[in-house]
Amino acid sequence: MDQFSGAEPLVGEIVGLRTFRVDESGLLLPLYSNLSWYDGPNTATCAPPTGDHHRHPHVVPSPDCECGFYAYGTEAAASHNRHMRYVQAVVSCWGGVIAGTQGVRAEHARIDAIWLNPNVPSWTHKRVAARYPSARIYLDRRAMLAEHPLSALDCYEQRPRHRVAPRLGAVVAGAALLTLGLLPTSWLRQTNLLWDAWLIATAAVAAMATWLLVGARGPGHRAAAVVTAGVLAWLVAPLFGPPGWLLRLPLLRGILVAAGGYLLSLRPGFFPVEHSSHERAFCGVRP
Ligand SMILES: [Zn+2]
Ligand SMILES: [Zn+2]
Repeated sequence: MDQFSGAEPLVGEIVGLRTFRVDESGLLLPLYSNLSWYDGPNTATCAPPTGDHHRHPHVVPSPDCECGFYAYGTEAAASHNRHMRYVQAVVSCWGGVIAGTQGVRAEHARIDAIWLNPNVPSWTHKRVAARYPSARIYLDRRAMLAEHPLSALDCYEQRPRHRVAPRLGAVVAGAALLTLGLLPTSWLRQTNLLWDAWLIATAAVAAMATWLLVGARGPGHRAAAVVTAGVLAWLVAPLFGPPGWLLRLPLLRGILVAAGGYLLSLRPGFFPVEHSSHERAFCGVRP
């Protein structure tokens, strides 16, 4: 069974939990799309979060596609999403509903209740309330979940807690990669071990970037491919001597932006609001 498919199709309304980004106008946007949700019922079109549109026409959601409105089935599943600390919404899902171990994908969905982190600026709070008049807005998460209990489905499983070791491993591997790409070629060539490590790392990163671009379909795979391409450019930079620094610029810029964003999010009272420069389009259609 997958995270959001694999179980038997469901009938009736299923209540799930999800998160949204909030834009300046108060509209709620999914994390991987700039199309907002309507107040009241939304009907999904085939717009998988990966943006891939290479399939035959099908009912939405289809087990073979990633389309449909997503909702986590349990608080435990939802808690792995970092954005849940800012915005949570209880959504009712109906019509074609496919369930998996972590939650559901649905044809129709409606936002019943919205919890905003108390750090939310009051003007944002007011705009969200104005945009979604049929949803109740909470500043107390527990109260929202008590008044809007999530549906309990047999197919949901509690994911084990994040362990520290894999994260630490990733940090060490990342630091090793960045170090390899900083060594001058003369150093790399000096010892077979370093040279082999560099060759293997470069080939592995190149393969990873290609796979992310061509083979992967998970949400955010394009963004991951761009980051991986940046790492690849960083790794081959030593071959070009001092001009190789040009190849390191994209990743350096990315690291600075990410670090800046992270530091900003540590500021007390932080609440992320997306800029909206023009009129937003909507995610689904009205039924
Ligand atoms: Zn689809
Ligand atoms: Zn499609």
